[in-house]
Amino acid sequence: MKTNKVKLELKRITKKFGKKIVIDNLNLKIYEGELFAILGPSGTGKSTLLRIIVGIEEPDSGQILLDGKDITDLPPNRRNIAMVFQSFALYPNMDVYRNIAFPLKIAGFKKYDIEKKVNSAAKLLGISEILSSAVSKISGGQKQRVALARALVREPSMFLLDEPFSNLDARVRFTAREELKRLREQLHSTFVYVTHDQRETSNITSRVGVLNDGKFQQIDSFENLYNFPKNKWVGDFIGNFPMSFMKKTDSISWGFRPEWAIAGRGNLSAKVVTNELVGDINYWMCEMKDGSMVVLRGDKPKEVGSIINFKLNKYNIYKDNSFVKQIS
Ligand code: ADP
Ligand code: MG
Repeated sequence: MKTNKVKLELKRITKKFGKKIVIDNLNLKIYEGELFAILGPSGTGKSTLLRIIVGIEEPDSGQILLDGKDITDLPPNRRNIAMVFQSFALYPNMDVYRNIAFPLKIAGFKKYDIEKKVNSAAKLLGISEILSSAVSKISGGQKQRVALARALVREPSMFLLDEPFSNLDARVRFTAREELKRLREQLHSTFVYVTHDQRETSNITSRVGVLNDGKFQQIDSFENLYNFPKNKWVGDFIGNFPMSFMKKTDSISWGFRPEWAIAGRGNLSAKVVTNELVGDINYWMCEMKDGSMVVLRGDKPKEVGSIINFKLNKYNIYKDNSFVKQIS
């Protein structure tokens, strides 16, 4: 479980590539035992941030604290943070056993200890049966477990995983998520993983940090990100559909989710632009008189151009692009 002890702290981290500011004066606290997700569109600096934490990329400014100690200037091998890369980065010419054993061999462990550690990691990840298999012969899901086992044998202080599910086929993705959750519970360790896909954050993480423009726009539970997005960008990014924003004045708008509106009656109205079916629910993309785009829903498709009356059961008030409060 997540504790109140800060495991990792990033203080005012900035990273530029040329003139481009990728990480902008960013602050973050990760708590011990947490499974924390960093969520953001491609190209927002998620991998860069992990590389800075693990020490293979140097920040231009700022400080990194691990267990309260400043590790900003320590080389990667002295940070004791394990990183699992998106590609898994396994050695294709070694079998599974040798891949997992490799970091221990480099660190000078004795053969007997290596065997013990590799076997126990393999057991934990359910890959004992494939230890002698060639890496080229195993599945994507198995490769991921091998990469995790290789990270695990070093008994790192924490784990960083870059898009851990993106190279798995859809069928095993769900299981992989559940396994990550179980692994964290068994190891009582701290995990940070990166994803661009919000479905990969909704039911396994304690907190999700939404990264954009070099900063965390919001750090919250997935439920709060959906219901109380701090600004319009988060409201747009989270959810199957962008949050609908109805302009009230220049500075004030109302934001709502499709299921917060009741279509068919009420004194608001909008014109249907397109229909979209998700599961067994019809969503209607609509335009209001002032040009605001809103998403409503119901059980049947609606003719394009038809007018829908609706009212709101619940809505958020935004002032100057910031969440003020929810009315329900
Ligand atoms: P993400 O992982 O969120 O997709 P990255 O951290 O890989 O994003 O990249 C963030 C931005 O920084 C991108 O615009 C990328 O092109 C740029 N970038 C990443 N690494 C380098 C590098 N070594 N040199 C120059 N630009 C880089
Ligand atoms: Mg990346």
